[in-house]
Amino acid sequence: TTSHLQQAAAVAPYPMNHEQISKPADTQAFLDNKLVSSQATQWIDLHDPATNNLVTRVPQQTDAEMTAAVDSAEKAFPAWKATSLLARQQIMFKYVALIRENWDRLAASITLEQGKTFADARGDVLRGLQVAETACGITTQIQGEVLEVAKDMETRSYREPLGIVAAICPFNFPAMIPLWTIPVATITGNTCIIKPSERDPGATMILAELAEKAGFPPGVINIIHGSAKTVDFILDEPRIKAISFVGSNKAGEYIYNRASANGKRVQANLGAKNHAAVLPDCNKNHALNAIAGAAFGAAGQRCMALSTLVLVGETKDWAPEIAERAKALKMNGGFEEGTDLGPVISPQARDRIVSLIDSAEKEGATIVLDGRGQKPEGYPNGNWVGPTIIANVTKDMTCYKEEIFGPVLVCLNVPTFEDAVSLINANEYGNGVAVFTSSGATAQRFQKEIEAGQVGINVPIPVPLPMFSFTGNKKSVAGGGANTFYGKPGMMFYTQQKTVTSFWAAGDATGTKAQANMPTQS
Ligand code: NAD
Repeated sequence: TTSHLQQAAAVAPYPMNHEQISKPADTQAFLDNKLVSSQATQWIDLHDPATNNLVTRVPQQTDAEMTAAVDSAEKAFPAWKATSLLARQQIMFKYVALIRENWDRLAASITLEQGKTFADARGDVLRGLQVAETACGITTQIQGEVLEVAKDMETRSYREPLGIVAAICPFNFPAMIPLWTIPVATITGNTCIIKPSERDPGATMILAELAEKAGFPPGVINIIHGSAKTVDFILDEPRIKAISFVGSNKAGEYIYNRASANGKRVQANLGAKNHAAVLPDCNKNHALNAIAGAAFGAAGQRCMALSTLVLVGETKDWAPEIAERAKALKMNGGFEEGTDLGPVISPQARDRIVSLIDSAEKEGATIVLDGRGQKPEGYPNGNWVGPTIIANVTKDMTCYKEEIFGPVLVCLNVPTFEDAVSLINANEYGNGVAVFTSSGATAQRFQKEIEAGQVGINVPIPVPLPMFSFTGNKKSVAGGGANTFYGKPGMMFYTQQKTVTSFWAAGDATGTKAQANMPTQS
């Protein structure tokens, strides 16, 4: 049988072995269904995280180029809004099929630019694909309500597109997160501008090419590039009505505030510190395997990574056993067979993670497993940090207070279940949480008392599939989490409600005096 890696090599647009690409091509923008070269004077170098070889250069696009993207989206909007829902649905069916056909190619681009393993990159694509698949059910999801509110009078509700919407994406899920926007925004009749992360825009570019093939008209999906300057352009462009942001708190809080002040609708998913409470009555093997996988998979660069263990009672001595499992995980280039975790995104990210591990050591924690300085053979120049486990961590330590976003698991000890719940609830983030227990009653109590928005019961990464919504809370979202991504709330975010109240009566009305009171409609 052909391995996925061999299949991917057959379709990948670049060498599949992380070797230096002799002449890296510049990343282009996508405007009016065409790839266009930028006239930028500033370029951002993009390196393969496993080798630090140059892969491509990403333009910091000029204001004129970005304005052209908005002009194009504006021009496309009236006809796209007027396109029937069934016609838009047919395009989405085709888009879904094309993403599936190009699954390996998308994954290959992610492994090259982002570093995660090829198998994990396929998961990244799948999670986005599922949003597009679910969006195909729009014909029932978008139905309005109707009620006869008075004699001969009824009110109906409709959901209409907003116009031009924009997505500002993070580096860690290069396919999934653009696909939290593209399917939902377009099937509801909006046109959209996507700004992928400047660190890995390749998957978005493939998604754009596939959108053109699926039959999206020119201008419905445009891709622009750049970093903070591009973000500011999006925030201040009055024709952009809504912004979907996923990324760090630093950028996200700024984006939420500035976009809201400019009158835009914003959905913003931010950082996290996801805890797992481990109870002595849990299925130990299941728990330890699940925890090691969820802490170190994707090199810990998932907003739902399990980064913090709360060891309850006698489980306080379990860290070394998790370390045994973590040691069995293979760190290597993402295209290599059998790799469990790849590099982190950049040398700066690696240095930051290492300095957080250093700080834990200085502040008195115990390094049970030390990934500092580890390197797989054959990749001497990559951004490597091996799985690291820090035990005896306390709440005041820097490694607890900050989101590490690397393959580092910090472990705190508490005596009781109640202590675990209050420790977790005291944390300012509220993205995901998990509990490991064999007791239904304990699990039930945990799910009721815990504040984090996405709860796993013996499930380490409880990211809801797109028939539900992504429901982080507290500091893991901006704006109180009123506008969540995908699912029914995602559809609502990209649409404006309209209600129509109509009166149709047979025959002529009686009486000649106008009624000046507020109608009571009885
Ligand atoms: P980031 O905030 O650095 O970048 C995200 C986007 O914001 C990029 O497109 C970038 O160009 C832009 N940006 C960065 N700094 C900016 C600034 N100062 N001004 C304006 N724009 C700016 O985030 P990242 O490092 O790409 O992603 C990792 C972060 O994303 C982590 O904190 C992670 O928890 C979070 N994340 C959250 C979720 C979620 O659903 N809650 C999902 C994935 C990632």
